[in-house]
Amino acid sequence: MSTVSSRISGTADFEAGLGDIVSLCKRRGFVFPSSEIYGGLASCWDYGPLGVELKQNLRNLWWEFMVTTRDDVVGMDGSILMHPETWVASGHVDSFHDPMVDCRVCKKRFRLDQLENPDQKNCPECGGKESLTEPRNFNLMLATQLGPLDETGMKVYLRPETCQSIYLDFKQIQQVMRLRVPFGIAQVGKSFRNEIVTKAFIFRSREFEQMEMQFFIREAEGPKWFEYWKGERWRFYTEILGVSADKLRWRAHEQLAHYARAAEDIEYEFPFGWKELEGVHNRGDFDLSQHAGHSGKNLSYRDDLSGEVFVPHVIETSAGLDRSILTVLCDAYDKDIADGEERTVLRFHPRVAPVQVGVFPLMKKPPLVEVARRLELELRQRERMRAFYDETGQIGRRYRRQDEVGTPYCITIDFETLEKNDATVRDRDTMLQERVGLDRMAEYLRNKIYRET
Ligand code: ATP
Repeated sequence: MSTVSSRISGTADFEAGLGDIVSLCKRRGFVFPSSEIYGGLASCWDYGPLGVELKQNLRNLWWEFMVTTRDDVVGMDGSILMHPETWVASGHVDSFHDPMVDCRVCKKRFRLDQLENPDQKNCPECGGKESLTEPRNFNLMLATQLGPLDETGMKVYLRPETCQSIYLDFKQIQQVMRLRVPFGIAQVGKSFRNEIVTKAFIFRSREFEQMEMQFFIREAEGPKWFEYWKGERWRFYTEILGVSADKLRWRAHEQLAHYARAAEDIEYEFPFGWKELEGVHNRGDFDLSQHAGHSGKNLSYRDDLSGEVFVPHVIETSAGLDRSILTVLCDAYDKDIADGEERTVLRFHPRVAPVQVGVFPLMKKPPLVEVARRLELELRQRERMRAFYDETGQIGRRYRRQDEVGTPYCITIDFETLEKNDATVRDRDTMLQERVGLDRMAEYLRNKIYRET
């Protein structure tokens, strides 16, 4: 959960440097504004065919890294609407807000912590003298109503973070799965925040997805597990997603929330500056104790072997899926010169790329088309690779189209293929071409795609 002190400050121009990426995303079907035919809805975004593949890949890679490849973390999928007392206990009803100021002249609204100077009275947008109002608190939770009638309906919130259902279900899951501390529970899902500052593409939206994991431990082991999870999360971005390590850094929170023992963010150097990508926190026993107090239920843990009874402490790793997508997009985005022309290229790691292999017949003629189609289907269906078939335009144009969406390998079936049963594989980054036998094509690609970073 964000606290005012942990939030970024300074008037960042979020869109600076993002323009090309935003337009590529729209042009090539990654991400575009939601409800655009009605003029769009501020800070809500739709993922198109390539964007949804990218999102799926990142979500799956996170899940594999955090859950399926480990024996000490299990998953869950909680509901978005939860009992409203949850948010009283968690502190969100009282303190999940941003102080904001309004300009009386141009009517723009600003987050106080994003003004250059918190005592500022002149509007940074229109320059209005003494035009800013006193700060007012603005709760970031979105509310709705359950039940048929306005008067009798129950006010509930769309969850502003996914982790609370992990705390609420902690004891059930621990008992039914017979888990022993230390263990973790992970969840991926939608969260909603009525953000004030929304000009930041998918970096900050009002509806977004989080990937969170709470790791339940003994108090004394807090520092050890905190360091361990910092290491793992760093490894995820650099080794699994292939993000450049020199564009990532740790930033310790200057002021800790009253219950927190330690809190650090992984920041990425976006075109608009260093910004938070994920938080790793030692939250002590705050959350379980709060929910035990508010619900009247005993949320302590009893160790079967040692007989100890205690309320576990928690190390949390809290990442944004949409922010991870923006990170890999910014990290991959590049321009260079190919055949004397400028080309735009997304240098995604092959594991992350929405299309992993393009398959082209050199010409739209039998039997080249049939051979290419057969190979594409084999790669898609038998190898479960994300393959794409394209037979239109010159081969150079087809390469360029795939470069722009980050396809790491393209295979061209030509007349030599018919004689020698091999084909040209062209590498997106080196642009080198290599002949590879069709009977070992799948293995060749597998080795490249699943290689270590
Ligand atoms: P920020 O200071 O950028 O608002 P936060 O400190 O409020 O972030 P947390 O509450 O710690 O963020 O949430 C964990 C993660 O969820 C963040 O690191 C980020 O990746 C993601 N996240 C939070 N708010 C948003 C949002 N409005 N849009 C997209 N992702 C978000």
